[in-house]
Amino acid sequence: MNIPDTLKEIRPAWVRRNANSMARGAGVRENFQDQLERFYELLLQAVESGDPAWIDPLLLEWCNAPTQSALREGDRNVSEVLNRMLLTTYELVREDLNSQDAMEVFGAVLPVFTHGLEKAARCELESRIAFITSDLAQSQARMERLDQSKSNFISVAAHELKTPLTLVEGYSAMIRESLKGDPGRQADAMLEGIQTGVRRLRTLVDDMVDVSLIDNNLLDLSFQPVWLNQLFALIRNEQMGSLLARRQTLTIQAFPGMEQMLFADPERLYQAFRNLVSNAIKYTPDEGRITISGRMLPGFVEVTVADSGIGISLEDQQVIFEKFGQLGDAALHSSGKSKFKGGGPGLGLPIARGIIEAHGGSIWVESEGFDESACPGSTFHVLLPVSSEAPDPKLASLLGIDPPGG
Ligand code: ADP
Repeated sequence: MNIPDTLKEIRPAWVRRNANSMARGAGVRENFQDQLERFYELLLQAVESGDPAWIDPLLLEWCNAPTQSALREGDRNVSEVLNRMLLTTYELVREDLNSQDAMEVFGAVLPVFTHGLEKAARCELESRIAFITSDLAQSQARMERLDQSKSNFISVAAHELKTPLTLVEGYSAMIRESLKGDPGRQADAMLEGIQTGVRRLRTLVDDMVDVSLIDNNLLDLSFQPVWLNQLFALIRNEQMGSLLARRQTLTIQAFPGMEQMLFADPERLYQAFRNLVSNAIKYTPDEGRITISGRMLPGFVEVTVADSGIGISLEDQQVIFEKFGQLGDAALHSSGKSKFKGGGPGLGLPIARGIIEAHGGSIWVESEGFDESACPGSTFHVLLPVSSEAPDPKLASLLGIDPPGG
């Protein structure tokens, strides 16, 4: 018996049977039949030459065409197709030949299929990995573009809002000035209202500008000697009105390091801690307690701002430091600075983080969770590097301190 000739004889039945069992629909079947003919041709070459690698190019083509409908119909993968074809071959040789010849023919095609199955498994795995990798890269690029457009939007919007804001601010101040001494005090009260609104808008626009500076790594720090105790005292004074209105206590607990001179940007550091304290006021019920404390660590000073407020859920602890990360319930959004749970635009913590990180420090929060009735509280930790050297050599010589490395 000549094996290639026998294989050629069963070819039409083999193609028909495989097409019928694997492809649904006339159009699909026709296309699939072409593929089966191509495969069979290569199978013959492989058997004749004794080199199973003849089928490799077609297998590669199949593996890398994940949407090829004829093969993928019913989500069939290449290994399943090969298995099905092997089974058909077995059925046909058993039906048409005596058992001796059947074993011989089957023995000749088996190594080709074994080789094919191994190849298909490997290349399917590789193509799947490549597909997932490229999908992942695409999603990442999309996220980056989105983040970039968010940051572009902030910087354009902030810039666009600034000009009209300055006009409204200036003209209302001028009208107010010109009405001074006027008995019609009603107009004065209205102008006061406009100016309050403008001040809040100004704060928002300034925050947007800061976020965009931080996003673009453009936050410029002006390093000067800073004493934390002075900074905290200033914050307490500034927040006194809100603390009294909410009948809350703010305790500043002395700790080693609080009186030590640090090199930092005082205005920016003030801004960061003020955001933490004003949040503590906002998210703590009336009569609650807020405590600023800290400790000295090797090379660092750690400041904690703790409150007896509503706390923060574990999942929110990750997102609140992202810009617009925590928008909360829009109905609770309030432009008031100290109203209980009066959510803002969600820029305070991202700015605080940007400032602290620009100083080489880090910020995080600890809270047992969010519970408005039990009020587990939140503790914000700020780690700041302590350096006795001014980062700016000019400033160092001005202060009579040896510049670093000098
Ligand atoms: P905003 O206060 O403008 O919403 P922030 O960036 O300052 O934005 O804060 C983000 C969110 O983090 C807040 O909306 C609030 O849900 C939560 N948060 C911040 N500080 C506290 C705190 N001390 N206690 C409870 N939740 C807080």
